[in-house]
Amino acid sequence: MNAPAPPFFAFDNSYVRDLEEFYVHWKPTPATKPVLIRLNEELARELGADPVALASPAGVEILAGNQIPEGAEPIAQAYAGHQFGQFSPQLGDGRALLLGEVIDRNGKRRDIAFKGSGRTPFSRNGDGKCALGPALREYLISEAMHALGIPTTRSLAVVATGDMVRRDRAQPGAVLTRVAASHVRVGTFQFFAAHQGPEQVKRLADYVIARHYPALAASPQPYLDLLAAVGERQAELVARWLGVGFIHGVMNTDNMTLSGETIDYGPCAFMETYSPGTVFSSIDSAGRYAYGKQAGIARWNLARLAETLLPLIDTDAERAAQAATAVIDALPERQAAHWLRVFRAKLGIDETGDAEADHALIDDFLRILKQNQLDFTVAFRALFHAASGDPTRLEALMTNATDFTDWHGRWQARQPARPADLLAAMQYANPCYIPRNHRVEAALDAALDDNNLAPFERLLAVIQSPFDERAADAEYAKPAPSEFTTTYMTFCGT
Ligand code: AMP
Ligand code: MG
Repeated sequence: MNAPAPPFFAFDNSYVRDLEEFYVHWKPTPATKPVLIRLNEELARELGADPVALASPAGVEILAGNQIPEGAEPIAQAYAGHQFGQFSPQLGDGRALLLGEVIDRNGKRRDIAFKGSGRTPFSRNGDGKCALGPALREYLISEAMHALGIPTTRSLAVVATGDMVRRDRAQPGAVLTRVAASHVRVGTFQFFAAHQGPEQVKRLADYVIARHYPALAASPQPYLDLLAAVGERQAELVARWLGVGFIHGVMNTDNMTLSGETIDYGPCAFMETYSPGTVFSSIDSAGRYAYGKQAGIARWNLARLAETLLPLIDTDAERAAQAATAVIDALPERQAAHWLRVFRAKLGIDETGDAEADHALIDDFLRILKQNQLDFTVAFRALFHAASGDPTRLEALMTNATDFTDWHGRWQARQPARPADLLAAMQYANPCYIPRNHRVEAALDAALDDNNLAPFERLLAVIQSPFDERAADAEYAKPAPSEFTTTYMTFCGT
């Protein structure tokens, strides 16, 4: 007979088992009066958990960190990282804990982790807490990214703790439960390279290969291939971000996963009017992490990963450096290939055209958007409508765009007929609904100021289905008033 299923999650904690020196065992700080604000029932089922049990008082105690479920082995993970280009040798989970891992319904290993569960040995001066607003914000944006088809950590639950946290003003505290393919970051490698040497880096690399890149285990040069494979996933990830106007906002090396998932929704936001220099983060005054800089930063971060892998790549330092440099130098071409694939889909053009000419066609459309200060999402969606036989929206946007007629002729000539699958791909490359910044803020204000979660739930429902247009949701497709966007700022202060 099979053993009875454990009441909440069937944990199987490989990180704890395989990597002893890479974390500290730690317990969450209990919450005074936990209240479940949101549970992702579909994701709970995907993880093999029962949503009804999780929403019960006993489940909420677990999601608040007040009770440790059977099989969980909570740990704070160690990592380092370059923050805005400066190396911090000791970061780590300062307000997060990895509760444990489960194998999900699709056979994939997933981390279940808390954010905001109290101080840890890595907290430095921080309080280890998370405010409710930023927890809800991460929930919304990560679920939007998932619905947009972009690899990302997910949000399983938000629980209000009943405790206040001190930020610019006192705010209700919360615990967000985050689910990830893993929480191994470029900064995790940097920590072990800086403090423990190549033997430990090798253990971590072998762990990552087994967990995320199993095909590489048989390679004659697994660590060099790992570098290339991570670069490939990140190239694809950033291209997908660019395709929906996503600005991560804080692409420090501790916020780049080895799995290729988007992680750490702090000051992120979606661009409205197309402009590659767009930055929303209050702490990014130099624009290091602007929309258009993200591919270059991914490359910079990959070079930091490469540095940690050098001793594994070749015992001869010079040969190792040469091999790693070749991988880093090949990245721009890979990034360009992913970018071209994403934007060809957005234009509804097939893969057969001349790459340079297609690149120019895409660039010229983007230039028209920039010159005419057009909303990125609205304009591409209008292009999809034009491709489906209704040019009225696109024409209305472009009435004053002098170069548009010429561009439109080139676009039509490039793809005179569009088979159904190409049109469908175009639809799924051009969402109608993204989490508009003003809508996100309004939802959070209602939740925090009026205890009213209805706008949050409504917005969540809209962005969970981003590609099919619904008349009742027309308002959610509209950009923010320009006065809103010009002064909009996002903060790290989760
Ligand atoms: P992040 O900006 O979320 O990528 O976090 C960078 C580092 O700061 C990580 O080591 C976090 O654990 C730590 N950190 C951020 N906020 C807090 C906080 N409120 N308390 C303790 N540590 C924090
Ligand atoms: Mg982080």
